Amino acid sequence: MTHIYDSIIIGAGIAGATLAHTLTKKNQKVLVLDKNGIASGGSGAAGAFVSPKIGKGSALQVLTNEAFEFTKDFYLSTCPEYFHQTGVIRIPKDEVDAKKFTEYKAFNDNKYEWYSKEKLQSLGINTESESFYFPEAGVCDAIDICIYLLKDIEVKTEEVVSLDRTDGQWNLLTPHSSLLTKNVVLATGFESKLVDLRYMGIRGTWGTRGDFSSNLDLKASMHQSMSIGANMNGIIRLGATHEKEITDPLPCSDMQALSLEKKASAMIDTSDFKLLEAYCGMRAGSKDYFPLAGEIIDVPRMLEEYPALLSGAKPEFKYVENLYICNGMGGRGFVFAPLIAKMLAELIVDDKKVDDRVSPDRLFLKWCRKLHSP
Ligand SMILES: Cc1cc2nc3c(=O)[nH]c(=O)nc-3n(C[C@H](O)[C@H](O)[C@H](O)COP(=O)(O)OP(=O)(O)OC[C@H]3O[C@@H](n4cnc5c(N)ncnc54)[C@H](O)[C@@H]3O)c2cc1C
Repeated sequence: MTHIYDSIIIGAGIAGATLAHTLTKKNQKVLVLDKNGIASGGSGAAGAFVSPKIGKGSALQVLTNEAFEFTKDFYLSTCPEYFHQTGVIRIPKDEVDAKKFTEYKAFNDNKYEWYSKEKLQSLGINTESESFYFPEAGVCDAIDICIYLLKDIEVKTEEVVSLDRTDGQWNLLTPHSSLLTKNVVLATGFESKLVDLRYMGIRGTWGTRGDFSSNLDLKASMHQSMSIGANMNGIIRLGATHEKEITDPLPCSDMQALSLEKKASAMIDTSDFKLLEAYCGMRAGSKDYFPLAGEIIDVPRMLEEYPALLSGAKPEFKYVENLYICNGMGGRGFVFAPLIAKMLAELIVDDKKVDDRVSPDRLFLKWCRKLHSP
């Protein structure tokens, strides 16, 4: 039997959707499988801000801001109707944070303005601090953008229960079918049960978004310890992810969204807010907070063939053939996904090495040595 698909992507969140879109542009025949449908995981719950990262120029800030520049142009050219360039104001959490902001100015490579307290108050924002305003930043319609990116691509709502490799191709088993493909990409978010991915340290952080109807004239989006979207068509979205190291999704309740409204009331006038809908979800982060994109190391084989790995040996890595990961986007999946999709598509189709900063290889040797330590 020969494979029908060039690539099957497991997971129809923003990671799987941008990758499917990018691979299709490179003439690949792609199928996307998601057990609960498009954007049913963390992506559907996201506030989906697309804004730069501030700080003192860490490697993660540099990568995030490269991704921001690439991604805003990607959304503006691909699906401008689902990316709203409202601008995003970054407000310090407290006085200590406010002092740090002045140091961060030197590391803001993306276009920004410095907003005074008076300017912020004139915009209806109650704060005693000066803040950054990023005019090119904005907010995505999280679910719509995933649907749009997948509109010309075959998508099935099925759970992949196992992967089997025989005769140089992959056979994916779902409760309804058996599917053959050359390549498989795991874009499964916080769930990583299909293959041994322990070295990547993928873990979930739980969060909530509440969409509220309101007449408040709020033109820009803002982020402090939570996100507050601009008023778009009479709806203001409040979102935050905070509960770390959660292994299973929690029940979603209005209470969680209403607690966001209470928190937001310290910054803006929420007196006419009415909760329309609460969304909850898990976002997946890697051990070092960088995204994960690239080939997957054959962990059982490496441990069996090279027991000295545990005591510091550095043999050449052996990979599982034609199996890839696209994950670990943390709290910035909507920022990272288009750039990561480009890198991964170039690896899969053009055999171009992925950027070392996102390759999961970076985590393997350290993980092996930890296996050895008591
Ligand atoms: C409340 C909240 C607010 C957020 N705010 C922002 C923000 O402002 N800006 C930003 O950029 N990011 C934000 N994020 C983070 C962002 O949502 C994530 O980074 C993004 O969703 C990651 O996308 P993903 O495609 O990797 O994972 P997911 O969206 O979780 O997709 C994984 C998919 O895989 C499917 N799946 C898993 N296992 C299988 C299987 N065996 N078979 C078939 N399907 C399977 C799941 O059903 C799921 O749909 C937020 C997240 C949350 C929860």
